[in-house]
Amino acid sequence: MISKNDLEYIRDDYSDIDKQYKKIEQEIWGLEETPIVKKYIGLQKKKTELEIKRKNLHGLMEHGEYENCNHLWSISMDEYGEYDCFCVKCGLNYKSLRLTNRGKENSLSFDERVMASVLKEQSFVNDADINIVCDRELAMAIYKKIREYYPDIDDKTVIKYFEIALNDIRNIEVSDERKKSRAKRLGLSKDFNKWK
Ligand SMILES: [Zn+2]
Repeated sequence: MISKNDLEYIRDDYSDIDKQYKKIEQEIWGLEETPIVKKYIGLQKKKTELEIKRKNLHGLMEHGEYENCNHLWSISMDEYGEYDCFCVKCGLNYKSLRLTNRGKENSLSFDERVMASVLKEQSFVNDADINIVCDRELAMAIYKKIREYYPDIDDKTVIKYFEIALNDIRNIEVSDERKKSRAKRLGLSKDFNKWK
C-alpha cells in the first residue's frame, strides 16, 4: 500500500515529469509547423499508403504466379514431423493450408496466407511427381540448377535428373568443407545441413 507520505512524493514527481512532457509536446507542435517537418510528415503518410498498395499488389502477383505455375510436386517433412507436399518450381506448399484448416491462420506470414488462398481454390494433390522426401529449400535449389543447365528439357527428364542429383548428394560421402562449397553452389546458406 502507498502511504499518504509516499503519495505526496509521487504527486511531486508526476507534476515534474508532466511539465517536462508538456514542454516537449509544445516544441514538437512548433516543429510540425516548419516547412521541412511538414514535408517529412506528408512524405511518411504517402509512404505508408504506398506500402499498403505495394503489399497488396505483391500478394496478387504471387497469387497469379502460383496459379500459372505448371507445378512439379515433391514431398518434405516439416518441423512438426508432418509430410508436406510442395512445388519445386514455385515453392507453393500445403503447410499453409493445413495450418489454416486447423484455425492457426494467425501464425501464417503474409506469403503463406497467399499460398493458402491459392490452395483453397485447387483440388488436393494426392500424388507427388517426385517421390522422395527432401528438404524444400534443397529441392528447389536442385531444380533451379537443373533448369539453369538444361532450360529446354521436359518435366519428366527434370525428375530423372533430380533423382540422380539427390541420390549422389545422399550416397557419396564428402567432407564438411565440400558440403559447404556445395551449399554455396546451390545458393543455400553455408551452414545448410538438411542433405538427408
Ligand atoms: Zn509451382
